[in-house]
Amino acid sequence: MTARLIDGKTAAEAVRAGVAAEVARLSAAHGLVPGLAVVLVGDDPASAAYVRSKGKQTVAAGMRSFEHRLPATATQDEVLAVVAQLNADPSVHGILVQLPVPKQIDPHAVILAIDPMKDVDGLHPLSAGLLASGLPGLVPCTPLGCLYMAKTVHASLAGLEAVVVGRSNLVGKPVAQLLLRENATVTIAHSQTRDLPAVCRRADLLVAAVGRPGFIRGDWIKPGATVIDVGINRVPTADGKGRLTGDVAFDEAVQVAGAVTPVPGGVGLMTVAFLLVNTVRAACAAAGLPAPTI
Ligand code: NAP
Repeated sequence: MTARLIDGKTAAEAVRAGVAAEVARLSAAHGLVPGLAVVLVGDDPASAAYVRSKGKQTVAAGMRSFEHRLPATATQDEVLAVVAQLNADPSVHGILVQLPVPKQIDPHAVILAIDPMKDVDGLHPLSAGLLASGLPGLVPCTPLGCLYMAKTVHASLAGLEAVVVGRSNLVGKPVAQLLLRENATVTIAHSQTRDLPAVCRRADLLVAAVGRPGFIRGDWIKPGATVIDVGINRVPTADGKGRLTGDVAFDEAVQVAGAVTPVPGGVGLMTVAFLLVNTVRAACAAAGLPAPTI
């Protein structure tokens, strides 16, 4: 068997096109232009590249992009002051503080300071609580991308056995909550799970969010299963440049799975697309408009 590839590029383009259409409609009908502010503390090259890409995609979708850069030596109070200023700015509908932040800054304190109405990363405890309670709210972007990709394969997830490997607040837990909301039967596995290969083999839908290259092997996958690989790991190569690889042993997985997301070119591309979606949702909520259907 050769698995179908779930192409993140096509999927992300479709999501961004939906965002651009909705932004044009909101602007024409209500004079509402959603605005996203990204805060970058320090000069980590990977984070700076993410921030640039977010800014470009925000503008390309017709939205306003605000970028705030602070030096790596910035104090927690200085970061909190920027967040407070963005909370108070009515043209900013979404705030994202690029993680990780330098070690003198407590990321939890920063997340807690963001107005939950503008929490487009979905990391505020109120957002997590709304998701866990099955109430509308802002949901972390990568999990939304995982769900979208799973739905390109399965018209309904109801009754599927879903196994999520990883339980981070950023990925594993919200993915599991979203799958539960879709009526899948969800198992969350982690580093203390016994006989992980056997647990994974139960899955019709397997989501890997572990952070270990090639960790999920082909013989852990149920034949025909859908595999969503969230992992982004840089592994060394002979030329010294390194290469990105997922948490799933891709060459093995394609022999067994029914459908699989590649890395790169899979879930990673969906995250920014759903950041734009969340910003439009936050803008609609702030303006008292119904939630957009994108
Ligand atoms: P994380 O916070 O480090 O969480 C990793 C999870 O994997 C933890 O729950 C951990 O279990 C579990 N784990 C570690 N070793 C394990 C083992 N041997 N067996 C079973 N479970 C194990 O990582 P994360 O933030 O969720 O990210 C996971 C991966 O996704 C990373 O590669 C990251 O780069 C990538 N990622 C991609 C995107 C994207 O846009 N596509 C976004 C975010 C993250 P314990 O809780 O028991 O320690």
